[in-house]
Amino acid sequence: MSNNNHKETKSFQAEVKQVLDLMIHSLYSNKEIFLRELISNAADAADKLRFEALSDDALFEGDADLHVWIEADKEKRTVTIRDNGIGMSRDEVTDNIGTIAKSGTRQFLDNMSGDQATDSNLIGQFGVGFYSAFIVADKVTLSTRRAGAAASEGVRWVSEGAGEYEISDIERRQRGTEVVLHLREAENEFLDDYRLKSIINKYSEHTPVPIRMMGTAPASTDDEGEDKAPEAVIETINQAAALWTRSPSEVSDEEYESFYKSVSHDYEAPMARMHKRLEGKFEYTLMMFIPNKAPFDLWYQESKHGVKLYIRRVFIMEVTEDLLPRYLRFMRGVIDTNDLPLNVSREILQRHPAMDAIKKGAVKRVLGMIEDLAKDAEQYQKFYNEFGNALKEGIIEDTANADRLAKLLRFHSTKDSTASDSTVSLADYVGRMREGQDKIYYITGDNLAAAKNSPHLEVFEKKDVEVLLLHDRIDEWLGSHLTEFDGKSLQSISKGKLDLSGLDGEEKKEDDEDKKDEEKKPILEKLSKILEGKVQEVRETDRLTESPACLISEEFGMSTNMERILKQAGQATPNMKPTLEINPEHPLVQGLDEGDDEALAQWAHLLFDQAVLSEGGQLEDPSGFVRRMNKLLLQCSK
Ligand code: ADP
Repeated sequence: MSNNNHKETKSFQAEVKQVLDLMIHSLYSNKEIFLRELISNAADAADKLRFEALSDDALFEGDADLHVWIEADKEKRTVTIRDNGIGMSRDEVTDNIGTIAKSGTRQFLDNMSGDQATDSNLIGQFGVGFYSAFIVADKVTLSTRRAGAAASEGVRWVSEGAGEYEISDIERRQRGTEVVLHLREAENEFLDDYRLKSIINKYSEHTPVPIRMMGTAPASTDDEGEDKAPEAVIETINQAAALWTRSPSEVSDEEYESFYKSVSHDYEAPMARMHKRLEGKFEYTLMMFIPNKAPFDLWYQESKHGVKLYIRRVFIMEVTEDLLPRYLRFMRGVIDTNDLPLNVSREILQRHPAMDAIKKGAVKRVLGMIEDLAKDAEQYQKFYNEFGNALKEGIIEDTANADRLAKLLRFHSTKDSTASDSTVSLADYVGRMREGQDKIYYITGDNLAAAKNSPHLEVFEKKDVEVLLLHDRIDEWLGSHLTEFDGKSLQSISKGKLDLSGLDGEEKKEDDEDKKDEEKKPILEKLSKILEGKVQEVRETDRLTESPACLISEEFGMSTNMERILKQAGQATPNMKPTLEINPEHPLVQGLDEGDDEALAQWAHLLFDQAVLSEGGQLEDPSGFVRRMNKLLLQCSK
């Protein structure tokens, strides 16, 4: 093998192989999207060149007419997508084409179910990118040269989409990238210009770079009456204008929808949209969309924002936390302003006062959009199922808007219908609080069923007091940040001492209680002693009516659910012991025999383990529990 052109054969990263495989087998009903994906890469390359050329005009190499060119060759059976954008160096080709740097790729692949209908939807959300070429092609040749580099620095990349690709140096005069798809046998339809044009119209109408093809001018007659043969002419297929610069009244629903699809790579129409031009100290335009479904990487650490920042219609960057807080990362769209300087570093941009003003304005408008959705409960539930947990992050992250966000939260509740997606707002809760009730009560659990069946709820049920059922991981954190709503404090019912005595004008019965505690003290002390190391103390309960025992965390301590979450995540937990509360009315508790030390020890451990189990916790010594339980069962059956 000659090495003059530095030819190498490399293997795809394992994840790429898997994505390729999935794509070829899952997207069979939506093959045409390969064109959208490759055009979108080509348009991004034009955007990047335009941006880099702001500080180095020479990169245009005398040709600033940025565009994408599409061409089909029926004889060779190829479709070509060519751009005169930024291009790639050899290193960039190996880094970008052949590896997937996207965060969460692994998790994404693990989520694939093997069911083609579900998977093709997921893979669509993933943004299939360059590899979608292999949906229709059995061989792809990519030739490229970076803008500003010498013609000798061209690169060719060839692959048949199996396990390997070949990369070599070539001479390339033309800057930018050309992707040639050698179509599979069954994909002849994509050789048809008419078909290609209709796909471009469908998906890439609002790509802000002209997409051109060769077309034919219709046959005509010239001035002298002679017939003129049909002529080949260059056609621009898309509108190529920045849609957001038009007045909202001049943009149709279809145009918004197709624009959304091209910025988001989504198949579905968005759930909501907003298009506003804001004029104040700083002027900017927002064209923002809420997707119908959560983007696949919404819950991954490094998920990207999906809003783009333009300055005077030049693409600058994907919006970062500087422009939209992280909890709104599910938003898609464009922010364009004339009031930020072009031609400065990103660092300077980030510190510019207009950034801050635009951020505040954008957040305010986006929250307004969500508030509008909340006017229709059914519609809002759909939104909330997808993005509700992101809003909870907002309570923690965006304290300035925490009150506004709190109104947008929804929770399951004990007063709620059984439907799993029927929820209440904090305002609903406060509106129907019982007379004398001064707190918003909630319980946290591993899942809805665990929260709903918790023994902690017993006394609330008896007293007809509503309790919110929180069962998402983030709710544990939410509980420590959202401490008040509408002047009422939020109180976890599995923490601290409970005082429901204000309800129904009930008097506080402190004297009585003290006496009861007094009477029972010896046995409580004995139980505490037996469970030393496991519990802080054993005391009588006010919360239970049916269960014999439950566990309580300290008022400002960590709930047992939170401890469980941290342990599962492999994090250290402060060793805080819970309090075991026992129900003096329960026959098991009444039957405890103070005199029989051995039996009392068995019962103490059994009550403790039961309480752990009823919270969905894990026993430290499950076989010990079973042994004790069996022993006691045997005694009963004698
Ligand atoms: P994505 O576009 O979602 O990043 P792709 O797989 O489509 O994923 O592309 C990977 C990377 O390859 C792009 O981010 C870009 O850096 C590079 N790339 C792809 N196509 C082109 C192109 N036509 N010109 C320049 N760079 C490109």
